[in-house]
Amino acid sequence: MNGPKTPIPPGSTIGIVGGGQLGRMTVLAAANLGYHCHIFCPEERAPASKVAKQTTRAAYTDEKALKEFAESVDVVTFEFENIPHESVQLLTDLVPVRPSWRCLQISQDRLIEKDFLNSIGVATTPYKSVESLGELEDAVELIGRPSVLKTTRMGYDGKGQAKIGPDTALSDAWSAMDGAPSILEAFVDFEREISVIIARSPNGEMAAFEPVHNIHTNHILDTTTAPAGIPDALAKTAVTMATRTAEEMGLIGLLAVEMFVTADGLLMVNEVAPRPHNSGHWTMDGAMTSQFEQFVRAVCGLPLGKTERLHDTVMTNLLGDDIEAWEDILAEPNARLHLYGKVEARPGRKMGHVNRLYPINGLKS
Ligand code: AMP
Repeated sequence: MNGPKTPIPPGSTIGIVGGGQLGRMTVLAAANLGYHCHIFCPEERAPASKVAKQTTRAAYTDEKALKEFAESVDVVTFEFENIPHESVQLLTDLVPVRPSWRCLQISQDRLIEKDFLNSIGVATTPYKSVESLGELEDAVELIGRPSVLKTTRMGYDGKGQAKIGPDTALSDAWSAMDGAPSILEAFVDFEREISVIIARSPNGEMAAFEPVHNIHTNHILDTTTAPAGIPDALAKTAVTMATRTAEEMGLIGLLAVEMFVTADGLLMVNEVAPRPHNSGHWTMDGAMTSQFEQFVRAVCGLPLGKTERLHDTVMTNLLGDDIEAWEDILAEPNARLHLYGKVEARPGRKMGHVNRLYPINGLKS
């Protein structure tokens, strides 16, 4: 079910599949607009559950729990896209599900994603499917080195990836994939990484936040800077590519499109995520509407909010022990701190983020 074109009004209950920090910040934004949220996730003490009205704690494959969940909410969305097709289908039969299964399917699998993007004329780096060591050898012959081998599914923040340099033994790279279906991508010698976050509502209304500049450290997002510091024409092209992708996916909700800017000023899409995204956290303090409110507006069919930047903003993720600096951050006059309520600060775990605000056009990048 795609659901009605008329708004799902404040006072309704939004079902959110996934219980992480993206869900938590969505719940807070939804509460501001008068909605209730019901989380569905397997984890105990999930960040989103701590602020939501209700949580169903069950496996993503638990049909009985999914059915009861669907019956208790007015619309279902996702903050986590790796849930099985059968589960999404079951929900879709009972309640409006936004975004649809097709959007999740595209973003769940790097091969389907790249095939889709190329089929709609959106450029990616050259790639080839790899399911055995023999296929890897052929793919490296075709794509060359350096390249990156990635599992097609379940990879994030650099997990399930192996860079293939001039001396990498292909048998080692293939072993690192643990037999999982994989994709070999040509390594992009990028000038910078950017992303565009775009919302699309049930009646096709769209609104994009401007491109932002993302810096990753050890494959995990470290900082996002708004604006991206790229020429206007390139920023416009990036938004056009995101718009085309959202339209062709038939998206209802929010889509993050991560792109590489190559050394010759071309854009290639790396990946897409049909949900709020870490690179959109700057909007919570730096833009007219936060990505989380925009997500709620799109999913519930409300008018979309304005996306203008109010402050130049640098968002920095707080990983693991970084949150011990909370007191110093709070003492900074231009810093806004957001913590996710996670108890255990394991190394590399996203514990919170800080948005540092600067006068408009006051940042050099
Ligand atoms: P991913 O899990 O695909 O988002 O990759 C995480 C990060 O690894 C990206 O944001 C890039 O910094 C880097 N990366 C991934 N794929 C490539 C590639 N084909 N070429 C260069 N860098 C890449």
